Amino acid sequence: MSASDPRPTRPVDPIGDPLTFAVSGVLAEAPGSVREYQIDNASLDPGEGLVLSEALTGGMRLLRTNRGLIVETDLRTGLAGECVRCLRPTITLIRVRLQEEVLPTIDLGSGLAVVLEEGEDPETARLTDHHELELRPLLVEAISLEAPLAPVCEENCPGLCIECGERLVPGHAHGDGPIDPRLEALRAFRVDADGE
Ligand SMILES: [Zn+2]
Ligand SMILES: [Zn+2]
Repeated sequence: MSASDPRPTRPVDPIGDPLTFAVSGVLAEAPGSVREYQIDNASLDPGEGLVLSEALTGGMRLLRTNRGLIVETDLRTGLAGECVRCLRPTITLIRVRLQEEVLPTIDLGSGLAVVLEEGEDPETARLTDHHELELRPLLVEAISLEAPLAPVCEENCPGLCIECGERLVPGHAHGDGPIDPRLEALRAFRVDADGE
């Protein structure tokens, strides 16, 4: 692809971040113009104790509006976690589907600061002073909304046996073997508690 290709499908990466896009090209176009980008294996730290099990892959679409850009993504990744029933490591596959208008900070034509209209949400996402779209913070927010409150390793995870602490796989049964003495103590405690 030549540098003059008017429809780049790869992010322009001026600061080494594959999730930062130089968008002055599409800003210079008429409202209604669309550009599409491919995002391959972009790593990201979602914070808040969340961990991605794999990098982000998918597409992004920018639609020029009369004020800025509508950013749409359809990215796939996974969240690493622990099953709430059996405590096994689990991965929850998620799609990160963003649809958000991002406004310029500086008007491309005049070079003047773009002032938000009265009543406009001050939290509205903005491009940088250099007409760059920083996708990372938008994705972090979208991923936090996708995070499951109670991840399970499989839909019908049977959980743990309250007798022995092992996972209740089909056919789980106890022989005459001794059970974990710590659990034995816990069971005795429970009986005492019931007797009160
Ligand atoms: Zn489980
Ligand atoms: Zn058991």
